[in-house]
Amino acid sequence: MSNLIGKLLAGRYQVQQQIARGGMATVYLAHDEKLDRQVAIKVIHPHLSDDPIFRDKFFREARMLAKVNHSNLVNIYDQGDDNGNAFIVLELVKGITLRQALSDFGSLQTEQIIQVSKAILSALAQAHENGVVHRDLKPENVLLADDGRIKVTDFGLARELSADTDTGSLVGTIAYLAPEVIRRGKTEKASDIYSFGIMLYEMLTGVQPYRGEDAIQIAFLHTSNRVPSSKVENPKVNSQLDQLMMWCTEPSVENRPKHAQEVLDWLEGFSLDSEDLAQTLLLPADTNFTEVIGDFEELEEPFQQFRRRSLGFRWLLASLLAVSLGGFGGWWYGSGPGALVPIPNLSDTTKSQAKAQLSDLTETVIFKEVFSDSFASGTVIGTEPGAGILVPRNSSITILVSKGKELVAVPNLVGLDLVTASAQLIGSRLAVGKVSEWFNSEYPLGVVYSHSGNTDTKVPVSSSIDLKVSLGSIPVVSGLQLSVAKAALEAAGLMVRKTEYDYSTSVPKGEVLAVVPDEQEVGKGSSLKLVVSKGPATVKMPAVKGETILAAKSLLESLGLKVVIDTKWLTKDYGIKRVTGASETVGSTLRVGQSVTIRSR
Ligand code: ADP
Ligand code: MG
Repeated sequence: MSNLIGKLLAGRYQVQQQIARGGMATVYLAHDEKLDRQVAIKVIHPHLSDDPIFRDKFFREARMLAKVNHSNLVNIYDQGDDNGNAFIVLELVKGITLRQALSDFGSLQTEQIIQVSKAILSALAQAHENGVVHRDLKPENVLLADDGRIKVTDFGLARELSADTDTGSLVGTIAYLAPEVIRRGKTEKASDIYSFGIMLYEMLTGVQPYRGEDAIQIAFLHTSNRVPSSKVENPKVNSQLDQLMMWCTEPSVENRPKHAQEVLDWLEGFSLDSEDLAQTLLLPADTNFTEVIGDFEELEEPFQQFRRRSLGFRWLLASLLAVSLGGFGGWWYGSGPGALVPIPNLSDTTKSQAKAQLSDLTETVIFKEVFSDSFASGTVIGTEPGAGILVPRNSSITILVSKGKELVAVPNLVGLDLVTASAQLIGSRLAVGKVSEWFNSEYPLGVVYSHSGNTDTKVPVSSSIDLKVSLGSIPVVSGLQLSVAKAALEAAGLMVRKTEYDYSTSVPKGEVLAVVPDEQEVGKGSSLKLVVSKGPATVKMPAVKGETILAAKSLLESLGLKVVIDTKWLTKDYGIKRVTGASETVGSTLRVGQSVTIRSR
């Protein structure tokens, strides 16, 4: 956006002129006031900078560049945000792009091809070494500096191989996309090699192997054809380089070089034969691109000029916009010739709704059932390639349908120690949930005595299983003196909250009769109540002399005493005959339950 020209970004970068404007960002020439040097500053388009996903992708470029430091890669200096203008600051590479060199020269000389190829491959080897795939290799992203340096730029679509968790998305520029990327949206190191192979074809012949107005048609050719020998287009092409190109553009990944380093090694061993030397002489060895093309600083918009000249520009721009912005290209859709169509978001629809929504786009729909934790069985999860990705009409789209959560059986863990039980859970694709420790009289210390889930019912994969581990028995304190019992329980981590007293005929006074936990499950810190013996209960012998036998018996029994009747009367007379004496004297202390004899004669 030209409105940034003349502005000072982040109080430091004086924006001077626009270098290039792409689908995602504008690249400006700027002056770093702090370090007093010229820099390139790439500013995200304002309408995209509000999109958090887009911003994230943009700043990922900074991270990728910072990660792979190499003389054939553009250096990153800084990143930041000024009033919503998200930007990255790059080493300024004054010169032209390989695209412009190709537009101007047509094919390149063998020596130049080797020089450019080596630089690209060294950069790639370094990126691949760091687990980064570029995903958008093309002549526009190769910078040829005035001083002869050659640099690969634009890691905007690059991705860390290890972080590649999505189902894959079609990104890159159609003309350079490997068949496996077009088919499955999956980019690997070898896909960068394929893109290099196409660039090599272009350097050898001055044209791309597949040409046409229609991006879809080109995508189709990449997937159904094998790139032809460059000799068909230009019989003068060096045979060895032609073979290298054929190797790099092998349709199947297995047959392609696996690493950029492999191709680089091949090139290192390459020697020019006489046929090539003759050709090379046409262009003096010290000729550099800038002399031919013009000086960067004198041009108002130096890079634009060559783009305008390029015959393939219209097509190029269309495919560049359509595909390199695939992941967030909905906004672009509709503006280009041969436009690709974005896949709608079909999440949470039914199978038939999803199919109906795709009917305008394609008839080739594959349903794939996959387990899902978050989508109910039968519900559409999404698509492959994903929503928003631009695809040619009638390409095959896979609809992912949930078959619900994947269920697994919970293994029986009772009796295992905690480490073994945890290992079994992980082995069963389950997780160790809450582990709690409780006193348990049946299982020894450290052993799992109970867990959530049971062996009969299956649970979703990754469910957490809670484990209860035994602390052993609660210490046995019956028969101990109160103070000793208390100390023993407290040493085991229990709290004696309350002490109660009760009579006991069997447990002597002062000794613990019982332990009563407050809760059913007792763990460390649980509180409990101790019941201490008061010894046996006692009563005073009441006066019973002169009472009827019946009245005396019921009085004594009500005090908890056992009654023995010593009499000559019949039972029917007990209501009238009176007690004449007793075995115990009135007022004496008797144990509850003790026998007392009453007499009546
Ligand atoms: P986009 O993501 O829009 O393709 P690029 O990073 O490829 O952005 O930059 C677009 C263009 O800007 C390049 O093709 C090149 O012409 C120019 N450019 C990019 N980086 C630099 C740089 N560091 N120095 C000089 N020119 C650059
Ligand atoms: Mg670019």
